[in-house]
Amino acid sequence: MRPITPDMISRSMVNMTEGDLRLMTLPGLHETVWDEREFLGWRDVHHSTKGYLVFWAGDELLGLMVRAAQSPMPAGQSAICALCHTQQPAPQVSLFTAPKTGDEGIRGNTVGTYLCADLACSLLIRIQPAESENLPRPEKLVTKKSLGLRDRLENFSRRVRCLDVA
Ligand SMILES: [Zn+2]
Repeated sequence: MRPITPDMISRSMVNMTEGDLRLMTLPGLHETVWDEREFLGWRDVHHSTKGYLVFWAGDELLGLMVRAAQSPMPAGQSAICALCHTQQPAPQVSLFTAPKTGDEGIRGNTVGTYLCADLACSLLIRIQPAESENLPRPEKLVTKKSLGLRDRLENFSRRVRCLDVA
C-alpha cells in the first residue's frame, strides 16, 4: 500500500464518532514495510477490544474501526478470517463487529465478521503455514492471496458504509 501518516489515518476513519477518535491510539509507523501490506491493521493498546483497518480504495483512504466480541471464542474452536481466508484456532481469530456509517450506525447497526485477532493478515499471507516452517511463500501465491484480500477488504468496507457489495 502507499505510505500514510498519522494525520491521514485520523482523517480516513469512516465509522468513528468524535469521541472514538479522541480515544484512538495510533500505531508506530517507522518500521512499517508498506510494500508488503494490503492494509494497516492494529489493535488499540489502551482500549483492547478495539482495532482499526486502514487501506486505499483507489485514491480514497478508508479507515474502519472494529470491536472484538466481549466473550472470546471457546478454546479449541477455530474459524476462518474473512479477509485473508486463513483458518486459525481461537484466540488467534476473533469475532469483530464494525459500526455502520451514518444513520445505520447511530441506530447501533453493525457488520460482524471473523478476522485475525491481531489484524496482521498481510504478514500471514506472506509466510508459509507453521508446519512447513516460516519460509516465504512463493511469490505467485502471495500475489493471488493479496488480490483476494484487497477485494474482500473493499467489500467489507462497502457493507460498513451501507453500499452495494460488488
Ligand atoms: Zn486474516
